[in-house]
Parts: sequence; C-alpha cells; structure tokens
Amino acid sequence: MKIRKLLVANRGEIAVRIIRAARELGLKTVQVHSAADVESLAVRMADEAVNIGPPHAARSYLNIDAILNAARETGADAVHPGYGFLAENAGFADAVTAAGLVFIGPSGDAIRTMGDKVAARVAAKKAGVPCVPGSEGRIDDPDEARRVAAQIGFPVMIKAAAGGGGRGIRIAHSMEEFETLMPQASAEAKAAFGDGGLYVEKVIERARHIEVQILADGRNAIHCFERECSLQRRRQKVWEEAPSAILPEKVRQELCASAVALAASTNYRGAGTLEYLYDDQSQSFYFIEMNTRIQVEHPVTEMITGIDLVREMISVCAGEPLRFSQSDVTRRGHSIEVRINAEDPAKNFMPAPGTVESLKVPGGPGTRFDTMLYAGYQVPPFYDSLLGKLIVWDETREGAITRMARALAELDVQGLATTKSLHQILATDPQVLASDVHTRWLEPWLEKNAHRLTQ
Ligand code: ADP
Ligand code: ADP
Ligand code: MG
Repeated sequence: MKIRKLLVANRGEIAVRIIRAARELGLKTVQVHSAADVESLAVRMADEAVNIGPPHAARSYLNIDAILNAARETGADAVHPGYGFLAENAGFADAVTAAGLVFIGPSGDAIRTMGDKVAARVAAKKAGVPCVPGSEGRIDDPDEARRVAAQIGFPVMIKAAAGGGGRGIRIAHSMEEFETLMPQASAEAKAAFGDGGLYVEKVIERARHIEVQILADGRNAIHCFERECSLQRRRQKVWEEAPSAILPEKVRQELCASAVALAASTNYRGAGTLEYLYDDQSQSFYFIEMNTRIQVEHPVTEMITGIDLVREMISVCAGEPLRFSQSDVTRRGHSIEVRINAEDPAKNFMPAPGTVESLKVPGGPGTRFDTMLYAGYQVPPFYDSLLGKLIVWDETREGAITRMARALAELDVQGLATTKSLHQILATDPQVLASDVHTRWLEPWLEKNAHRLTQ
C-alpha cells in the first residue's frame, strides 16, 4: 500500500470506524477535530489529533484549508472524508489530490457526475437505468417548472440537486402548493448545501427504499448486494437490513447489474451506493441518487458478505486493484442495523445531547455496536444526533429480529434520551416482522404509537 498515514476528516462513530480499518491496514492515523470534540473517542483512539477550529462545522469540519494544513503538519498522505461534511464535495476531492494526497473516494469529476442528483439522473438514463419520471435537468425558470409539474401530475416531489440527509425535499399536492414550496425549497437548499438548484420528480407511492452497495477500483466495479431502508422518519433511515426480505431473485440480479453498469460508466473508484425506489406491486425499480461515499448503514452489508468495506475502499483508493471478482462475493444470512440517536422519542424526537452517566454495550453472537460513546462522554449539541448503530446478524431474518430485541435489551445508556425504545417496539411489530412496510409507513405508525414511546 502506498499510503502510511491517514487523516480522518470526520467525527463520531464513522471516525472510530475508519481508525479501526486504518489500524488493521498498518496505517498511522491523524484525527482532525473541532474544539467541541477534544474529548471524543476518535481523538483518544487516533495516533495524533489536530484541532482545526471552533465547534461550528463551517469553521472546522468543513474548513478545507484547515484540514489540508493539518495533513501537511502531520505528514499525512491520505484523507478519508467519512459521510456528510465534505464527503461529497468535488472541490474537496480535487483540493486533496492537488495537495499531493490520496482522497479515499472517487475523483472530483466522478463526484460532479454522480454526487449531483440531476447529473446522476442524466448518467443513469444514458446507462439505461430507469429513473423516477421527472424534469430533464435543473429547473431554474418558474414557467418551465410549472410546465414540468403539470406534465408529471400531482403530487410531485421537489428535490435539491445537492441535497442529502433527507433535507431539501418537499411534496406539492397542487399547483398552488407547488408555487409556494418552490422558493422555500430553493432557499433551504441554498442555506443547507450552498446550492439552490432544484428538480422535480413524480412521487412513487408506497415505495420501498432499496440500495445497492458497490466497490470499484477505477477499472472494475462489483456489487455487494442490496440493503433495504424503508423504515424512515422525515426521509431519514432509522432501521436498515440486508438483504431485502421481499426482493425476487430475478429483480435483485437486474437491480445489482444496473448499479454496476452505472458505476462502471463513470470509471468509479471506492465504495458507493446507488439508491432506488422499488414498487413491489409492479416489481419496478427507479434510480433516485448515488451516494459517492461510505454510508451509515454499510455494516449490514459487511455482516452478510464478510467484506470490510472501509478497508477495501482505502485499499482501492490507494491504487490497489479490487481483491475480489463478482463471483467471490457471496452472502449468507440476514443483518439488521438500527440507529441509536440522541433524540427523545417521547418528545417528538427532540435532540437530546447530554453526558453519558453509564454505558452497557450489547455483545454475544452476531452482535456489533459501532459507537462513539464511552462512560463520561459529553455528547456535544452541535452535530448529527447519531450516537451509534446496533447491528445484528443471524441465519434468518426472524432470527435477526429476535437477536436485535435481545441486544437492545442489553444496551443501557444512562444520562441522555435515545431512540432505543422505538426500535424495541418496532422489533415486535407484526408489520415489521412481515416486512410489510414502505417509506411512508413509519410516520403514521409513530403518531398511532406515540403513547408507547419512552425516553
Ligand atoms: P446514508 O445515506 O449513509 O444513510 P444519511 O442520509 O443518514 O446517510 O446521511 C449521513 C450524514 O451525512 C447525515 O449527517 C447527513 O445529514 C449528512 N449528509 C448526507 N448527504 C449530505 C449532503 N449532500 N450534504 C451534506 N450533508 C449530507
Ligand atoms: P437524500 O439525498 O436526502 O437521501 P433521496 O433522493 O435519497 O434524498 O430521497 C430520500 C428519501 O425520500 C427516499 O429514501 C424516499 O423515502 C423519499 N423519496 C425520494 N424521492 C422520492 C420519490 N420520487 N417518490 C417517493 N419518495 C421519494
Ligand atoms: Mg438518499
């Protein structure tokens, strides 16, 4: 491997995950951090740490100059961006490369093509992958926007080209609503992503969210099967599985082949995920976007394939060829991940930062807890509420759900509210057990079950 010291340009559980992979590869690690993260687990674990600025992410985790200075000062020769922050910023990928460092992700150009949702739709159509019916490109002109919306038919989805994390999305049920929501969506996207560009799509009702993990070395691309993430709140995933319990094998093969074709069409390098909506009545799938980075829910794929995705992405980005061919990638059993967030389910998921007074972590067979937590840790209020991910594996989906319930009962975080109780109830819900859900199933369920949710 041509790299020796890896700088981690992220925080939280994913920073810890990256440090673990780096260590197994024999790499030294540099953890950059804000003033709010001096006591973070990643800072404690890394070989070196550099304070790059104040708590506000714009002045630390999003500060490209400060990150590159830290790399220079410590002699790091590669940068891993994790997810969120600068992970899908093409300018950052270019700046890292221009500084003579290895970016653990695709090239800036590949991010420009596949990380921008509008450009990715164009690439998908070119590669023959079905997309959700919608606008051809960005819609800047209000007249054009009205024309496209009328043509698609209401309800329509207004989406930010640069969007992510479920933000920058609106649903309009009528032309009147559409006219009010367009400027709001554009302003929100401009504020959140620095880019107010919008496009519109048909709303796929009762869709399931199914995504394909790929790995590529710039020459070859392979898939590592799919994940299903249909349990969502505010378009954010809360519970993820691999494989999907309802996908027919023939559709699985088509879906995975389409993802590989699309990745290969951009000479992609690294780990990536192609997200689709799936209509199980008609067995049709529609490409929605590509995430040109490691995803939060990557562990469920690791559990069923035995592949360490973070290690592989570092290796291919350092210039090594893929160590697997498609036929080497096999899957076994079923894996489920739930997101443990610092949010209070009894108070409409209000963010609940605080100090971890005590912590008991689940263990035993088929059980993994990827977390930034330790007893005494003060969860800062400035960032994402994700504290950790509880991941289980078993031979069958039923077994995995039983194991999840067992592991959740072992998890004990004192001092702050978490989303554990939500997952405990979901793990006993008949519709979840039957996988009879879709992306807009959880929100009405939450309203009905609000009284059962506790801190
Ligand atoms: P995944 O797609 O891996 O399931 P999420 O959608 O939960 O991940 O996003 C992971 C983190 O990255 C969240 O903090 C989210 O807000 C952030 N994020 C995702 N996409 C973007 C983006 N385009 N710009 C800024 N932040 C993003
Ligand atoms: P983000 O970048 O925020 O992850 P996505 O395009 O991946 O945005 O969409 C996030 C979620 O919003 C999807 O998982 C799905 O639940 C919902 N969604 C997105 N597009 C559509 C659509 N056209 N019809 C119905 N639901 C959609
Ligand atoms: Mg998405």
